[in-house]
Amino acid sequence: MPAWSIQNHESFMEMKFILDVHLGRLAKYLRLCGFDSLFSAFYDDREIIEVAIMESRVILTRDRLLLKSATMATGYLVKSQYHEEQLREVFEEFGLKQHVKLFSRCIACNTLLEEVRKEDIADRLLADTRAYYDRFRRCPGCDRIYWEGSHYDNMKKSLLPLL
Ligand SMILES: [Zn+2]
Repeated sequence: MPAWSIQNHESFMEMKFILDVHLGRLAKYLRLCGFDSLFSAFYDDREIIEVAIMESRVILTRDRLLLKSATMATGYLVKSQYHEEQLREVFEEFGLKQHVKLFSRCIACNTLLEEVRKEDIADRLLADTRAYYDRFRRCPGCDRIYWEGSHYDNMKKSLLPLL
C-alpha cells in the first residue's frame, strides 16, 4: 500500500497558484498534490490579479484577456480544456513533479492537513474505515478527515501517469 509521500522539500521555493473560475477541477488536483492553489467560483478578474500580486501567486487561466491585464503578475495560459492534460501542462511548465506531497493539503479548502490520532476521530469513521485504516489527517480549516483509500482513489488513478 502506498504511504504518504514523504520527501525533502527544503530547497524548493514553494510555488503558489491562483486559478480562474473555470479551473476548479485543476485546483483540486493541484491541492491533492500539495500545491497551494487558491480558487473560488466568485473571484472576478480584478480580484485574481490583486491577490496574485499581493501573495506572489502565479495566475492559471484559460482567459487571454485576463493575462493581458495582469501585467504586474506572473501567469500561465492553460491550453487544454481537460483537467488531466491541464495538470500535465502545469507540471511541465513549473517543474512540479519532484515536489508533489500527496495528501498534505485539503482538497476542499486548500488548508494544510494535520496528522490526527485514530482514537480521536474514531467516532466519525464508518466501521470499515475504522477496521482497515490507521493513518488519518484532519483539515484544521473545514474539519474534513482524510485517509489513504478514501474517495481519493479515483483522483490518484488519473495522477499516476504524472508521478
Ligand atoms: Zn479543508
